[in-house]
Amino acid sequence: MLPSRVSVLVAGGGAAGFMAAITAAEAGATDVWVLEATAEPLNKVRISGGGRCNVTHACWDPRALVGHYPRGGAALRGPFSRFASGDAVAWFDAHGLELVEESDGRMFPRANRSSAVIATLRRAAQAAGVEVVTSEALQAAEAVESRFRLRLRSGRTLSCDRLVLATGSHPSGRRLAASLGHGLVPPVPSLFSLSLAGQPLAALAGVVMDPVQLELLPPQGRRGPRHQRQLQRGPVLITHRGLSGPATLRLTAFAARMLQEQQYCGDLLVDWTGGWSQAELEDCFQSARREQGRRQLGSSRPWPALSRRLWLALLEEQGLDPARRWADLPRRSELALITALRSSRYTIAGRGPFGEEFVTAGGIPLGEMNLATMESRCCPGLYLVGELLDVDGVTGGFNFQHCWSSGWVAGQALAAS
Ligand SMILES: Cc1cc2nc3c(=O)[nH]c(=O)nc-3n(C[C@H](O)[C@H](O)[C@H](O)COP(=O)(O)OP(=O)(O)OC[C@H]3O[C@@H](n4cnc5c(N)ncnc54)[C@H](O)[C@@H]3O)c2cc1C
Repeated sequence: MLPSRVSVLVAGGGAAGFMAAITAAEAGATDVWVLEATAEPLNKVRISGGGRCNVTHACWDPRALVGHYPRGGAALRGPFSRFASGDAVAWFDAHGLELVEESDGRMFPRANRSSAVIATLRRAAQAAGVEVVTSEALQAAEAVESRFRLRLRSGRTLSCDRLVLATGSHPSGRRLAASLGHGLVPPVPSLFSLSLAGQPLAALAGVVMDPVQLELLPPQGRRGPRHQRQLQRGPVLITHRGLSGPATLRLTAFAARMLQEQQYCGDLLVDWTGGWSQAELEDCFQSARREQGRRQLGSSRPWPALSRRLWLALLEEQGLDPARRWADLPRRSELALITALRSSRYTIAGRGPFGEEFVTAGGIPLGEMNLATMESRCCPGLYLVGELLDVDGVTGGFNFQHCWSSGWVAGQALAAS
């Protein structure tokens, strides 16, 4: 049972809240409580990474790590220089959970199940003496004489010396932060796939090309920090509706606000070569003519990594018979194929389904935070961590990494305060 007065109250039993509470208690804070609105803490950890939980990313240098955060970016250098991916790996290892790296840098628990991460966090909380109360939400908070007077959903009232808001993207956390003096960067979705007008690639659904270069063109006549040309390169998955895969998700994350302002419409240039120059591609076609002149266009691609289905579709688009021999390919058609390979233009018609991770861009502005402690600049004694802040990462374990980092920094500061 929650007493009527506690030392530290963490509202929100997700990744960030657990990390803050455990770190504070392990560093010497006593009387640390986690309040979780639902019956099941760490629910997003459970569903994350397709049930495997992509805990972090093998990106060891904080300077490189910040490049994966469309919102947050360079401001996160401070917290990451104190607790970054390597520290998260060591932290979980010290608490009995080994993380293993996949070929693309994503890191998962060796057991390959998110339940292993949940068990580790719950065990660590218990060992550190953190009390967890479930099915109870924080409804209102008021700062009174360097303490907080709290009202819970059940109608109960209590007070605490230090309050941590770790409520993720839930609107109640933003409301609570606003009532304590904070502003809000309006939330918009991030990390989604793209639907293309007329579904021009539907017949190629399932094709993966790597690397592909995607360029989102700014709306005509609009320039400014939010309307810059957005370029991403990496694996792309063609879907029935349009495009998905890591490069698409990265593009939509970095352009989340611009796309929202454009109501998810705009023009997209796709470079299926991943960034070859005109001269390089012309050379490649010349070699194909020379070395496979007698072979049919349809049975031999200009380079082996080019998807056969995509190549056949491009031939069809140019009205070229796949039975035609390479030696007979007219120069005009060759140039048209090169243009289609280097810059096919599509019209974005809307937002497709979300990727494996669903995160919100926006939240409490970082300018209102002391990032050395995660303490609010608007309200002393209040700490904010995790997705509630205006921070979001691209897909690959970066979103949890921010939860571990901000939670750890807040926990240390709580213990020291
Ligand atoms: C399907 C899916 C898969 C994902 N997979 C990954 C992945 O593999 N890797 C990765 O890095 N990221 C992933 N993410 C993103 C990641 O889950 C989030 O970034 C992360 O969970 C945010 O953690 P948090 O602790 O800030 O918030 P949450 O995890 O949302 O935790 C907040 C908690 O606060 C509780 N709460 C809310 N309001 C109150 C209140 N007023 N009082 C008390 N409690 C309250 C909520 O019930 C919730 O339990 C995924 C997201 C989704 C949706």
